[in-house]
Amino acid sequence: MRIFKFGLALALAFTVAACQKAGPGNVDGARIAAADSNNEWVSYGKGYSEQRFSPLTKIDTKSVGQLGLAWYAQFDTDRGQEATPLMVDGVLYTTTAWSKVYAFDAASGKQIWAYDPKVDGAKGFDACCDVVNRGVAVWKGKVYVGTMDARLVALDAKDGHVVWQAQVGDPKKPFTITQAPRVVKDKVLIGESGAEYGVRGFLAAYDAATGKKLWRFYTLPNATGAPDGEPSDKVLKEKALATWPDGQWKTVGGGGTVWDSIVYDPQLNLIYFGVDNGTPWDQEKRSGGKGDNLFLSSIVAINADTGEYVWHYQVNPGESWDYSAVQPMILADLTIGGAPRKVLMQAPKNGFFYVLDRATGKLLSAKNYVPVTWAKSIDIATGRPVENPEARYKNGSVDLQQPGPLGGHNWHPMSFSPKTGLVYIPAQADPFAYQGATNFAYKAGAWNLGLNMLANTGPQTPEQAKAAAAAYKGYLVAWDPVNQKAVWTVEHPYFWNAGVLSTGGGLVFQGAAEGKFYAYDATNGKQLWSYDTGNGVIAAPMTYELNGEQYVALMVGAGGGGQVSAPALLPTRPRLPGRLLVFKLGASAKTPPFVLPAQPQIDLSKVSTTGDKAHGYVVFNSTCQVCHGANATGSWLPDLKRSPMITTPGDFNSVVLQGVRAHNGMISFAKFLSNQDVEDVRAFLISQGKGEPLPGAVAAK
Ligand code: CA
Repeated sequence: MRIFKFGLALALAFTVAACQKAGPGNVDGARIAAADSNNEWVSYGKGYSEQRFSPLTKIDTKSVGQLGLAWYAQFDTDRGQEATPLMVDGVLYTTTAWSKVYAFDAASGKQIWAYDPKVDGAKGFDACCDVVNRGVAVWKGKVYVGTMDARLVALDAKDGHVVWQAQVGDPKKPFTITQAPRVVKDKVLIGESGAEYGVRGFLAAYDAATGKKLWRFYTLPNATGAPDGEPSDKVLKEKALATWPDGQWKTVGGGGTVWDSIVYDPQLNLIYFGVDNGTPWDQEKRSGGKGDNLFLSSIVAINADTGEYVWHYQVNPGESWDYSAVQPMILADLTIGGAPRKVLMQAPKNGFFYVLDRATGKLLSAKNYVPVTWAKSIDIATGRPVENPEARYKNGSVDLQQPGPLGGHNWHPMSFSPKTGLVYIPAQADPFAYQGATNFAYKAGAWNLGLNMLANTGPQTPEQAKAAAAAYKGYLVAWDPVNQKAVWTVEHPYFWNAGVLSTGGGLVFQGAAEGKFYAYDATNGKQLWSYDTGNGVIAAPMTYELNGEQYVALMVGAGGGGQVSAPALLPTRPRLPGRLLVFKLGASAKTPPFVLPAQPQIDLSKVSTTGDKAHGYVVFNSTCQVCHGANATGSWLPDLKRSPMITTPGDFNSVVLQGVRAHNGMISFAKFLSNQDVEDVRAFLISQGKGEPLPGAVAAK
């Protein structure tokens, strides 16, 4: 016994010595597995279970009123800020839009280092949903970031110098990365974005020390059905291939990207990841309207050592609506029907909250957490949804449906408090009109949805637009996952609000689209504190304790998919530089007010055009609206109807056809649009700049 004790003491001494010698960022699997119950925040969702619950109690329901700004940092980008910072060994690591990485002293806010991967601005065109990044992973002295140009970069945690980098997605294809990497057993796990453009999705594992690619798990077969030489081969052949009848997936790529959630259970040795929707969206075009199309819109469990398939659960068989299953997953132990269950919980885009047995993948329960029109329920016995037949928008029909492609819940992290037993969901209502395109043809590098996007320019009058806007809602829903019901709900002024943190102090923190950062009582939703950030918030807050003080950190900056595609439904605000705000009790630091960029004044009264504005309306809403707002009613990426460049054909063509602003992501559209198309779009924008009615409304009369 004495020898054993001596041995243990010696081992501890060596461990302490090793920690001290290893320098900053010395995170390993044991530290991430323990992170649910400590003062740090060492992985994207805090620990491997990604509960985003901190047991810290210094800031609680009584003291939160004294919360003030301790320090802040301002960044050099005004695009969306989606990152959750990590706090390891007194250093706070975060990322901004354009995949830039920063390390700060977590107590003082002093910047230690910064890294810019120098992504070509033209790559912004390949970003469906803004040039965002959700954060880093830290492991054994290195910091890992996925970049907008689909690289995985390992940085030295000490000074931010590049140790290795790997090209994850084929640079010739529209792959991007917005996701935070995760590290399991010395493997860096990373997926990719780009499904809307037409790619084939996978989860990849890289050696954390060297950057050597270890394996890829493809989420669907390749066009030939031939093996890839990867651990996914066996299950794709045995289970997936037969679910992919002929269709345009073979040309387009099929989609199924792995762009957000990855969680890990060390006891079961399983990695779980979520898979995106299919491309084209319309399953009629993708695979002739047939087949489940495995593993689209699925949660997949694989062996953490080999990358081999263990189980899957598909939330949307034969997916047709951009209903991805990449949304954040949380692992927890719940008592269900009197018995303890190891569960995996997800609130994917389709509006249902799923509780699965995470050892087997068996569906335990599912209930809608927002209004849902596409399905009546989820059949627990088969695990399949009971769809409403009109949801499949066959034969040219239009289905105005909830949720839409932005989801009842998107990437915004939710949080589970073991203290209250509730999951706090940043939920939303966002209707969308689905209609198949009549003459879909694959365009390399463009969005390939197979949908008639004009179906979503519905509101033609201000009254109709007002009614449509009223249908968009944002909520914070406190959800009881055992009884599958809302316990309380806070309704926000807008949809597209921010990620969530819950704490041992009985608080739930969430930012919102209008720019406020709130703390609520976790038991009843009562608002206890708020802070006006001056900018929209979409990222999730995190918290840590350092030198005996508890801090709450939040990345601030409007953006992301909702902001880009539906700016008219969000607060009217120019793009403002992103900020990191860090709060503690009794602090009273102030940020300087934002300097508002001047809106250029243009005089359209003498501007002439030979273009056909009615055709321009069609082209604009088919090609430009995803970034520049439906009907040009408002825009977050430049509001084109107010842009000086529409005053002359030469200026407009130089941007749209010659690509002089490619560095901002506005590449040349010469491969998609003719000279006449572009002049017609200009005519449409001039008409809207002058406040004329929409050409659609004229045609309707
Ligand atoms: Ca998608």
